[in-house]
Amino acid sequence: MRYSDRILSTPSSFIRDILKVTQDPSVISFAGGLPNPISFPEEALKESACRIIDNEGGKVFQYSTTEGHLPLRQFVADKYNKNFGLNITPEDVLITTGSQQALDLIAKTLLNKGDRVIIEEPGYLGAIQAFCMFEPEFLPVTLEDDGLDLKKLEEALKKERVKFAYVVPNFQNPTGLTYSKERREAVCALFDRYDTVLVEDDPYGELRFKGEKLPYIGAGKLPHSVLLGTFSKTVTPGMRLGFIITQDKELMNHLVTAKQSSDLHTNIFSQYMIADYLAHNEYQKHVDKIIALYKGQAEAMLAAMKEYFPAHVKYTEPEGGMFIWVTLPEGQSALDLFHKAMEKKVAFVPGDPFYAGKTNVNTFRLNYTNSTPETIREGIKRLAEVL
Ligand code: PMP
Repeated sequence: MRYSDRILSTPSSFIRDILKVTQDPSVISFAGGLPNPISFPEEALKESACRIIDNEGGKVFQYSTTEGHLPLRQFVADKYNKNFGLNITPEDVLITTGSQQALDLIAKTLLNKGDRVIIEEPGYLGAIQAFCMFEPEFLPVTLEDDGLDLKKLEEALKKERVKFAYVVPNFQNPTGLTYSKERREAVCALFDRYDTVLVEDDPYGELRFKGEKLPYIGAGKLPHSVLLGTFSKTVTPGMRLGFIITQDKELMNHLVTAKQSSDLHTNIFSQYMIADYLAHNEYQKHVDKIIALYKGQAEAMLAAMKEYFPAHVKYTEPEGGMFIWVTLPEGQSALDLFHKAMEKKVAFVPGDPFYAGKTNVNTFRLNYTNSTPETIREGIKRLAEVL
């Protein structure tokens, strides 16, 4: 056989395939998961690009350290210490090529073939894909409205060879759900007993437009806690800047080795540029603008769903982030609905790729960050006709 088992067992990104059919400009697409391009601080980034070339010269074009650019690691540590009362130093921060690379590095560092990984069901398909490369056995645990099902989580933790659990506690992709404070505490207490690595991936946490900010589940509490973050949703995804935070020194050393073997280091021009942008601009003010934008879009979508959707169709009401998750009555196929909706020129992502072992599911994901409130209303109206 020409190809590796690992590549043959990994699904290609279903979303990329779907995005191809939704490229037609007459289609109203709720399928993507892209930040709204009007949120990119283009002018400020242009200034930063010029300034770093003028001030730093060749350094911005040279090879650099695997761990990452120190001012950026310092910014990350300071931000989490200030916002969450953590006690992180720049040594606890590894800059990665987007948080997607963090998922790859964690799996590479922890998994042998057949090891087990606890994931949310439904869960982030990019994580499922990244982990699949290392041929694990997935242990999906149901994601309820306020977090993981505790009974199922404990059953999974009791099994052998469980290397880590992967969760998205804030405005999860794909469901938009957020773990409650109580559920976070209960999950933390369980992990404290089982000594398994807990990976909390939080690309959307800063984009909260409703409700109170909540503490992380394990960060600052559990010895084997790993927290992931990214500049993709708040500054630019194209620069590919994410980070891993962990105070588990041994794990950090292995992650650095894994990263060295993958790409030596993250794009240093991007790192200088974003560090300069953060030093010369008011980051929080910028994030506040994105929050206001997404709040309006989310409200428009929810209002239209309330008005047009039939009562048997259920959906989540996110307090932030980019997604709403819809559940059809038992037995209905979201994939069938997708084809019918495309005839009316409206698109979404059928739920299938968000499950490690289920197909033809009755759930689907809607994204609201890339259409105006008027277009959102029209798209939801069309979708309701199909429903
Ligand atoms: N984790 C989650 C939960 C995501 O939704 C995404 C982006 N879709 C990523 C990680 C990857 O983000 P990036 O690599 O751009 O930082």
